[in-house]
Amino acid sequence: TQPKRISILGVTGSIGQSTLDVVRQTDGMSVFAMSGHSALESLVEAAKEFQPKFVVATSQSAADGFDFGDLPAGTELLVGSHHIAQIASAPEVDVVVAAIVGIAGLPGTMAAVEAGKTVALANKESLVVAGSLITAMAASSGSRILPVDSEHSAVFQALQSGQPNEVSRIVLTASGGPFRDFSDSELKTVTVEQALAHPTWQMGDKISVDSATMMNKALEVIEARWLFDLPAAKIEVVVHPQSIVHSMVEFVDHSTVAQLSPPDMRLPIQYALTWPDRIAGVSPPLDLSRPQTLEFIPPDTDRFPALKLGFDVAARGGTSGAVLNAANESAVAAFLKRELSFTDIAIACQEILEQHDFIADPNLEQLMACDQWARQELAKWISV
Ligand code: NDP
Ligand code: MG
Repeated sequence: TQPKRISILGVTGSIGQSTLDVVRQTDGMSVFAMSGHSALESLVEAAKEFQPKFVVATSQSAADGFDFGDLPAGTELLVGSHHIAQIASAPEVDVVVAAIVGIAGLPGTMAAVEAGKTVALANKESLVVAGSLITAMAASSGSRILPVDSEHSAVFQALQSGQPNEVSRIVLTASGGPFRDFSDSELKTVTVEQALAHPTWQMGDKISVDSATMMNKALEVIEARWLFDLPAAKIEVVVHPQSIVHSMVEFVDHSTVAQLSPPDMRLPIQYALTWPDRIAGVSPPLDLSRPQTLEFIPPDTDRFPALKLGFDVAARGGTSGAVLNAANESAVAAFLKRELSFTDIAIACQEILEQHDFIADPNLEQLMACDQWARQELAKWISV
């Protein structure tokens, strides 16, 4: 068989690098194209090793003055984010790995879905912002969206032991983040350094902060609503600090099917790349030779109010996902610049959500207008 040709959007990030490791250790896969934004040294390194046909440097300003002289002779350089759509939809591509962070990932996800590609989706923000448009587009183009997010990969795997109408609920597990046991007053003084040190996962800065506020789980509830076409009422969250059970599906007969593996993103990435097949694992197996305890604890939405916003938005739909996502992206950026406190991230998001002019069935233009509006509101929030 032909090797699977992959486009990796966001190759220089945490998921992008883990994807390269999967490709490195898996037969029958080649990288057709890759994109990076500011980490251009790392982009060129990856191009030298994987010899893609195209490399996209999405940031014009970062690319200006950078010496791309080390790119392989057979690799064409494209500068500017508008080229993402080209490498996401090229006829040669079999699978698009959508691993850009934030709303910047939306155009690539949409281009791949519109072109009918198989999309290995890490960029959950795409579905949070535009889940209804993307799922409708996938239904008409024949695009298959396969989850990379570990919880959704677990659900996707567990769902295969029943029929869609036999599902009674899905239970997303959450590590609870580094501040799981912090009191209200301890949460108020959380620093950037503390928030970036996640106990079980090594990830990019934005999702690390999202995990610490539990906004990540909120976004994942919304992501699950769209990926699996389930109402918010059938989605639950449980805190599981060991990050071994990645999620579960309960069926109508009350049998619960869970997926277990050590916390290593290479497994869900590999599964999305090889589905419907399974092949020899790149990530290590579960070690059951030593005693260990798996805990399951109900989440505390008083200390982690962000989580509640996820259920509200999953139930409400419309423009609420675009507003929550944009408010959160801006709030996280402000927190990382030390302009906003840790606990104010969720408070600001909630206030901005409450103020917005809701549209039930928005088009892309209206979603983007909400995104812009929410970012402006957050900027105002900080300046007062
Ligand atoms: P990183 O911050 O490590 O990487 C982000 C990637 O996006 C980098 O390649 C970065 O380029 C690129 N990028 C940043 N800004 C832009 C932009 N404006 N335009 C184009 N490209 C841009 O993030 P992660 O890899 O951790 O996360 C990526 C996505 O995967 C997120 O949506 C996250 O929620 C999701 N995810 C991540 C998990 C993880 O374990 N890391 C788990 C589950 C989901 P550069 O570095 O060159 O600037
Ligand atoms: Mg996850």
